[in-house]
Amino acid sequence: MTVAENIIKITTELPSTVKLVAVSKFHPVSAILQAYYAGQRIFAESRPQELQAKVLQTADYTDIQWHFIGHLQTNKLKMVLPHCALVQSVDSLRLLEAIQSWGLANSRVMNVLLEMHIAAEESKQGFSSEEILSVLGHCADFPNVRFCGLMGMATFTDDQAVIRCDFSKICTLFNEIKSCSATGLQDFTELSIGMTDDYNIAVEYGATMVRIGTKIFGERNY
Ligand SMILES: *Cc1c(COP(=O)(O)O)cnc(C)c1O
Repeated sequence: MTVAENIIKITTELPSTVKLVAVSKFHPVSAILQAYYAGQRIFAESRPQELQAKVLQTADYTDIQWHFIGHLQTNKLKMVLPHCALVQSVDSLRLLEAIQSWGLANSRVMNVLLEMHIAAEESKQGFSSEEILSVLGHCADFPNVRFCGLMGMATFTDDQAVIRCDFSKICTLFNEIKSCSATGLQDFTELSIGMTDDYNIAVEYGATMVRIGTKIFGERNY
């Protein structure tokens, strides 16, 4: 199947409430444009330098929306924030504070998702549910940050029960936050869960965004 066929198939099968984020990391701009011509508009990258290069090379396609989904070091903000419609991977208070400072200095309000650590692997990034509730309790301290929802990555496993348990945790917290409808959280609407191997399960747990790379563009050559 071609990139265009993959985009059309996945988009057709997803419920209309779920946005497809095409994860183009490690794939060339030519592949991004194939997806673009099939109607795809949201793309995500996980490395600052690669994002910046691809943004420049696709500058003529002004309706592309870029998301950042990788670990972001505070000294790389300048390479990412000017280009991004959404930073999905805010995984520490330090990063959040740096984004607030950058937003203030540049008169921007940055859209972010807080990344929740739901996987069994210690290596994966993110906040605990307690930390997320604490950050959102202080959302007024971040006037240049718009809290748009949560992002999570399930454990890397074939065991569906484990994946369901991971998604259930983030889904429960997401619904809890939405239902309290605190002031400053009126834009808290996005739950970004699900990748190539688990996005159908993620949809069952209320995903509003799925982040798919391999199933669109094929295997990555690292
Ligand atoms: C690479 C990546 C994806 C896409 O993974 P696939 O399995 O290729 O669909 C999704 N989310 C994050 C955070 C990633 O780093």
